[in-house]
Amino acid sequence: MAPSSVGKVTADPTTRIAVLERGRVPAGEPVLRGDDLGVLQGDGLFETMHLRQGQPWLRDEHLARLAASAVALELTLPPAADLVELLDAVCAGWPTQVEGALRLVCTRGPAVGGPPTVYATLTEVPASARAARRAGISVATLPLGVPAEARTGLDWLPAGVKSTSYAVNSAARRWARRAGVDDVLWVSSDGYALEGPTANVVWLTGDTLCTVPAASTGILPGTTAAWLLGHVGELGLTAAERMITPAELSAADGVWFTSSVRGLTEVHSLDGVRRDRCPRTPALHAVLGFPVP
Ligand code: PLP
Repeated sequence: MAPSSVGKVTADPTTRIAVLERGRVPAGEPVLRGDDLGVLQGDGLFETMHLRQGQPWLRDEHLARLAASAVALELTLPPAADLVELLDAVCAGWPTQVEGALRLVCTRGPAVGGPPTVYATLTEVPASARAARRAGISVATLPLGVPAEARTGLDWLPAGVKSTSYAVNSAARRWARRAGVDDVLWVSSDGYALEGPTANVVWLTGDTLCTVPAASTGILPGTTAAWLLGHVGELGLTAAERMITPAELSAADGVWFTSSVRGLTEVHSLDGVRRDRCPRTPALHAVLGFPVP
């Protein structure tokens, strides 16, 4: 059981929890009812942010995505100012030199009705995630079993939302472990690369840095990829959203996965084929500002 931290601001990087309208609570204290729909049905939303120098990076972009997802799920969120206050509460006093993974969770709340359950957690970024920024990752393609544009064609299905229903994503990560690779890249039944279970794919073709269009495919519109593509002009590159097959991806000048906590990590092998390291990787890291250990 973690030591009690209620009402205290402590400068240590052990797991922290804060609950809407309650503030910081001891990390082992229950924050959900047993009949919370987030638990019973995975009916909720979350965002994970990178805490750097004690501040959540791209906080407003994450809150905007959360708000858009909430509309799609017909889930009523507390006012944005309350969410900011909650994030401030969990981050207060976190040691500035320690990178944090800051998670904001909003479920539909108790099955019997009631307000959404809203809390935040803050943990240290795992050493493995930091190491992957330098070491890169091996990736295998994995069929998702649906055409690339199938999901956005269904008007009842919320697409591109960061739902707490991650069972499929977790299954893909377990498959990666069994297959002996670091991560997977989902491929649609019509042959297009989509995204990883916790990351977007970004690639370089000549002077164009590309990613997969979220609007037509229903993948998660990544905050990290959006920031990167929005700033590559600083490197003399242009940005584009494109569809790509795994074979075309193999021929790209660089391939990376992007996500909020791991940051940018270069794909050094795709489906068992080793790739040359892209000389642009350090400059892309610099644009994103994640420390590379
Ligand atoms: N795609 C999926 C399915 C994800 O779960 C994530 C992040 O967890 C991403 C993409 C990357 O999004 P972001 O850069 O906003 O973390």
